[in-house]
Amino acid sequence: MEFSEPAMRPPQEARSLLLRATQGCTYNACHFCYVSRGYPFMAVTPEQMEKEVIAHKPFFPANTAIYLTGSNPFALPTQTLKNYLSVLRRHFPHFEALSMQSRIDDISRKTSEELQQLREMGLAQLYIGTENGNDAVLQLMNKGHSQAQAVEQLLRLDEAGIAYTTFYVLGLGGKGTGKACGEATAAMFNQVHPRRITTTGMTIFPDTPLADMVALGQFTEASEREKIEELLVFLEHLKVDTFYDGIHYLNPLNYRFANANVQEKNRVLADIRETLRNSSDKDLELMVNRKQMRSL
Ligand code: SF4
Repeated sequence: MEFSEPAMRPPQEARSLLLRATQGCTYNACHFCYVSRGYPFMAVTPEQMEKEVIAHKPFFPANTAIYLTGSNPFALPTQTLKNYLSVLRRHFPHFEALSMQSRIDDISRKTSEELQQLREMGLAQLYIGTENGNDAVLQLMNKGHSQAQAVEQLLRLDEAGIAYTTFYVLGLGGKGTGKACGEATAAMFNQVHPRRITTTGMTIFPDTPLADMVALGQFTEASEREKIEELLVFLEHLKVDTFYDGIHYLNPLNYRFANANVQEKNRVLADIRETLRNSSDKDLELMVNRKQMRSL
């Protein structure tokens, strides 16, 4: 069977050597997800990866960062990941860092020793769809993990020395849940040590279980105002030393700052409050054209 899923990457990996590792998602059951539907889970063999590496080698520096594409390549058996890493080291002995995406339960299936070994072989960072810290919302969206499970596994990554960037969806719980989600998500991240937290605004894509929930009246989308209010509550409660990166086309407001930079953070908080105060609901709805994105 051929790989047919378009390869995607986080914005932060724009300059990395991108190598296909998997297509599809081993879980494939989050209600809001449009990414991997219809693509059976498949992984490249180390030999296939080597061919791709050889083809790209002339175009990347010896110390390049490398990103393995796929919704959750970290679900693969540890030995497969080690085989990939051996291929990469053979052709890029000085590669800077290897990153890929993972679910929380993919981490739980690796022993601490395996995490340590992968770190020593070059696994530097995981991108993780934590999505939200509110258990009721995680359950509503069938995310497959709780806040406590996320904290437990992220602490294991801390222990193994594997950095992580987390994704947080503003508005995931729908209308009326913004404040609770902002507080719960900040409380979750305050217990761990994310290198970076990125946000995207909830968008309901067609042909997802969530779109069906909306049609049945089981879910009402949060307004852009409520998403921005959730962001404000979240940032007000976020105390951990991390980097907030909200530059994304699905966000109504785009900021990026080190959370420890109090002056910059206060400037951002003041800007958000002013936007909420001085903009009509209609102005805020126009900040992101989600209807257009729904038809992409
Ligand atoms: S884990 Fe990620 S890719 Fe898989 S279904 Fe959930 S959101 Fe989609």
